[in-house]
Amino acid sequence: EYVIVDGEVLDRTEAKVDIEDRGYQFGDGVYEVIRVYNGKMFTGIEHLKRLAESAEKIRMKLPYSPEELLSRMEELISKNELDTGTVYMQFTRGTSPRNHVFPGGNVAPTFVAYTRKVARPVDPMEKGVRAILDEDIRWLRCDIKSLNLLGNLLSKQKAAEAGCFEAILHRGETVTEGSHSNISIVKDGVIITHQADNHILNGITRQKVLEICRNEGIPFEERAYTLDELSSADEVFSSGTTVEVMPVVEVAGKPVGNGQPGTVTRKLQTLFKTEIERQCGN
Ligand code: PMP
Repeated sequence: EYVIVDGEVLDRTEAKVDIEDRGYQFGDGVYEVIRVYNGKMFTGIEHLKRLAESAEKIRMKLPYSPEELLSRMEELISKNELDTGTVYMQFTRGTSPRNHVFPGGNVAPTFVAYTRKVARPVDPMEKGVRAILDEDIRWLRCDIKSLNLLGNLLSKQKAAEAGCFEAILHRGETVTEGSHSNISIVKDGVIITHQADNHILNGITRQKVLEICRNEGIPFEERAYTLDELSSADEVFSSGTTVEVMPVVEVAGKPVGNGQPGTVTRKLQTLFKTEIERQCGN
């Protein structure tokens, strides 16, 4: 297995990061996960542009453009002969003596990337998954895909311990997103999903789903919705790079609709698969 560390392709066993790397000490960095189907990245450039935006929001300058990163990732995928899986990459604010204040401009970001074989979650996509509810205790810049994931981790762990796939997060009465995915509901044929603001990560999958809706004339609203709307929804689905469009059939021990994946969710899954095949072949 090959990995990239600081722009260099190495064998994984040779990869090393300093103990005073700011990612390790502070979570001072940003990351992306890109899906790979048939050896090709799906929505790769969208992810890499978001990475550049996340970096800018934390006042970090990336040494590569999204286009340059795209070709580096293509190289890594091909070296590792990856067919179906993911590419992970992160940039931290580099290595320097521990200090909350940013290091000077002479300290370069640490860049790490690697690939992983991950199958499409075919079975849960067919049957649907269960979710718990959890108060969203994260900070107010959830639009940044930063390495600080403790809030997400604590919620996801709670879900896992309850035998559930996801924790649906809410700030008081308002549903925001999931611990590791965006959450949308369907009511009377209309998809409702939280607007892209500082309270959620604007998922590339979420954006792709909305683009599909626009093209297919499926109505949607981008607005905050309440816990009451969630519990009376006809359908609930989670969306994300590795989970694609995932039906949620039970929330907090209560069935969603008739407890089966809904028709709108099913339709989106089909259209999403068509989009994957259009970009990556089949
Ligand atoms: N929200 C959170 C908190 C996430 O971690 C993710 C990524 N898995 C998403 C939403 C979905 O984003 P994307 O579709 O870009 O993977």
